[in-house]
Amino acid sequence: MSLWPRTEPGRLTGCPAIPEVPHARLQAIVFVTGFPAGAWGANCYAVATAEGEDCLIVDPGQASIGPLTDILERHRLRPVAVLLTHGHLDHVWSVAPLTAGKDIPAYIHADDRYRLADIVGTTFSMSREQLMSMTQGALELTEPDDVRILSDGEVLEIAGVPLSVAHAPGHTEGSVAFVSGRDGERPPVMLSGDLLFAGSIGRTDLPGGDPQAMTRSLRSVVLPLDDDTVVLPGHGETTTIGRERASNPFLQDLGSAPAPRGL
Ligand SMILES: [Zn+2]
Ligand SMILES: [Zn+2]
Repeated sequence: MSLWPRTEPGRLTGCPAIPEVPHARLQAIVFVTGFPAGAWGANCYAVATAEGEDCLIVDPGQASIGPLTDILERHRLRPVAVLLTHGHLDHVWSVAPLTAGKDIPAYIHADDRYRLADIVGTTFSMSREQLMSMTQGALELTEPDDVRILSDGEVLEIAGVPLSVAHAPGHTEGSVAFVSGRDGERPPVMLSGDLLFAGSIGRTDLPGGDPQAMTRSLRSVVLPLDDDTVVLPGHGETTTIGRERASNPFLQDLGSAPAPRGL
């Protein structure tokens, strides 16, 4: 099942021209839609209780404003908050333009908060100038005005969407997963960021990465989830906990070093 068409490698700007992926009406969240954004294909999601309602934006990455605007208009969604799974630039690139002057707060875990003050410098060793040339000058990275802090175990009720916050360090110090619980016949949903992907896990070799913390996070946050939990990852295809438990080598052998994927 490939819900997320791959972006062309090296494409850096403009609308990704990727069809919107409606895997809606699948859980307590009720309405989720998303698309892979920008050069790194970081999945950006809009989450709401229904079309025509307030919504949460999760991980507005590079070149996400255009496709996001289309999605919000098409489904008559009003963004009221941005949730960040972690502070890497491929997930937070468009947070400032999305929130500036609109009374929209951005939420991030305390341990990744510092990254928003220097998004490029805390993601990798590339200068702002190098990144500017790589992105043809389309750099939008500035610190958002209204940043709020997420803590482990907190339950958010923004836009009427119940989401619990699970601190899951390893990829970065302040990585989190957002989990929506089971609601009747609707299975739980996890927005996993770069903690867990279909067939892989987030890399731990960037600054702030910690392989041992990643192992602990996979054991304490991922493995206890029910098999029918839908996983909406930070990169790549949608999957389920059951499928990953059965086939993801990093869940079967939690001591292995992760293969690099994304940022
Ligand atoms: Zn990342
Ligand atoms: Zn990423």
